[in-house]
Amino acid sequence: MPPVFRFAPSPNGYLHLGHAYSALLNHDLARQSGGRLLLRIEDIDSTRCRPEFEAAIYEDLAWLGIAWETPVRRQSEHFAAYGAAIDRLAAQGLIYPSFESRAEVARLVTGKEAGGAWPRDPDGAPLYPGMAKSLPAGERDRLIGQGAPFALRLDMVQAAARAGGLRWREAGEGPAGESGGVDARPEAWGDVILARKETPTSYHLSVVIDDALQGVTDVVRGVDLFWSTSVHRLLQDLLGLAVPAYRHHALIRDAAGQKLSKSTRATGLRELRAEGASLADIRRLVGLV
Ligand code: GLU
Repeated sequence: MPPVFRFAPSPNGYLHLGHAYSALLNHDLARQSGGRLLLRIEDIDSTRCRPEFEAAIYEDLAWLGIAWETPVRRQSEHFAAYGAAIDRLAAQGLIYPSFESRAEVARLVTGKEAGGAWPRDPDGAPLYPGMAKSLPAGERDRLIGQGAPFALRLDMVQAAARAGGLRWREAGEGPAGESGGVDARPEAWGDVILARKETPTSYHLSVVIDDALQGVTDVVRGVDLFWSTSVHRLLQDLLGLAVPAYRHHALIRDAAGQKLSKSTRATGLRELRAEGASLADIRRLVGLV
């Protein structure tokens, strides 16, 4: 079976050099290995994703000389599949609803921090400090019945205990040079949100479902997602999904050493193209000659 790679951008802005690097690397690795390349549109966040950004992704990738298989999987068309996975986790007793708003969570964290440092996840966000896990079932039902907004969280302590020691095969490198067999540390993320009342999924959940459903064998993506892989390994284990190999690559930085953002025009692919850059220029700029 040929290896299966994927490039999975979110259409919430225009692509920049960092995306070009990731897409070209996936393309090159697929070509060198006689593998396939899939494109997946990760558009679960309807407040930030826009059709013009999706159209621009197709245009920019074509300009980069990248061909992908069709039909393209668009996550917004598969909410039912993600909802079914949530149901399976709920049936294992691993999901609970939390009702605090973001502002309430922030206030709870401030309160906790008054008593000393409060743990943060690998992205630097404070772990969920709330007590929703111990809300009596009747109270949960009452709040949901009232139409209160909620987030569905993974009971991390139970989930991690159920799964036991998990590892992944890393062909690239983590932020501290981790490579080879990496021990997953999902506990570092606390009770992550896997779905919300209005969006029955999350990045973590949809990415593992789709990688498995699409038969992805090699996940090649930026090192900013390295430790997310801990959560992905846990979900794969709980849902009985196949485990791909991972290769996390360095991020392209701007002249000031900052991570590129979709709003920085200087490194946008459309801007570079308008200025007359060629594909060879882009490959040189990202170090893929
Ligand atoms: N959609 C994610 C992003 O644009 C990438 C997901 C992944 O490669 O796992 O950052």
